[in-house]
Amino acid sequence: MDLEAAKLKLCDHCLGRIFGLRGHGLSNDERGRAIRVLYAMDHNEDINSLYPDTCELCGGIFNRLDEYARYVVEKLKDYEFSTFLIGSKFYEDILEREKELQARFGGSGESISREFNREVGKRVSKITGKEVDLKAPDITVIVDTRYDSIEIEVKPLLIYGRYRKLVRGIPQTKWPSGKYKESVEEIIARPVMELTRGEEHMLHGMGREDIDARMLGNGRPFILEIKRPRVRSIDLEEIAKRVNSSGKVEIFDLRFAEKEEIRKIKEAESRKRYRIAVEVEASEEEVRDALKALIGKIRQRTPTRVKHRRADKVRIREVYEIRLVEHKDGEFIIEVLAQSGTYIKELMHGDEGRTSPSLAEKLGKEVKVKWLDVIEILDDK
Ligand SMILES: [Zn+2]
Repeated sequence: MDLEAAKLKLCDHCLGRIFGLRGHGLSNDERGRAIRVLYAMDHNEDINSLYPDTCELCGGIFNRLDEYARYVVEKLKDYEFSTFLIGSKFYEDILEREKELQARFGGSGESISREFNREVGKRVSKITGKEVDLKAPDITVIVDTRYDSIEIEVKPLLIYGRYRKLVRGIPQTKWPSGKYKESVEEIIARPVMELTRGEEHMLHGMGREDIDARMLGNGRPFILEIKRPRVRSIDLEEIAKRVNSSGKVEIFDLRFAEKEEIRKIKEAESRKRYRIAVEVEASEEEVRDALKALIGKIRQRTPTRVKHRRADKVRIREVYEIRLVEHKDGEFIIEVLAQSGTYIKELMHGDEGRTSPSLAEKLGKEVKVKWLDVIEILDDK
């Protein structure tokens, strides 16, 4: 081991890090001190003369670890968290110089940021009683040592649940133009935002129903994402109670969720059961026969009503079950179980031949859709 390193103008931390892999059970500063001790004894010198005024590598950052830790704790005081992680940024030339030194003295010690993160982390942990989590911390703190500034990344709070939409005319998510005063998302998010004091919300649904369709039965799975929440431990039953008192949206089966679940929910190919009411001048028997002919594969070209925002293409979808459940006052109520992504209104009125076969096509008559409800989402397959 080259003891000449003791003559470098470095603090104990930075000196010790150069020899990071030498000796076990030593912290970097203990290792740095030991090198100086050995050198002083070897050369019969005063050890104090081996300490520079300032460290040429870190510029004294490692003398200020307690200060950094207090600064971090101060920044975290507005957030509730149980785990955290410290990250840091250093000037590029510090990192370069450290690599050179490590190469020169044959060491392959750890990097300055790694030691810094660990040391600040230990101190923050001691003050707050919270734990460091390397994988998915509630809060990540980035200390920028170049400008002595601190950035905080807060893990979003995710809540899984299922919703029922009891009234028509409400979109699932916030409407950009302000055309609709409220959405399922806003009704659910309102109390959650209040309790978590988050900054933004997003609703990830397992598909979406038409604005004029209700969502009934077992409800639609969703994950509500709250960005930068200040409070994480909230009472989900309280949330459900408040949302359910809206009379418009009901939520249930609430629990906290993990990030990976968002993708699963968005990609889920769930079959859905609908109820749809149509008007057509035909007999019950004619309607029953026509419906039978709709079971199986159908071709659907992007409907006229969504053409302006979706690519125009032809999709093949499957109708698994379809039956007439009620007929009164010229209105037929039909129940359909269909593949994810099937356009049900078009399956009835045919959209001028863009959906084929359709009830209108089979009857050779005009079919008018009165209303549509989703009554079951089968997301278990
Ligand atoms: Zn140093």
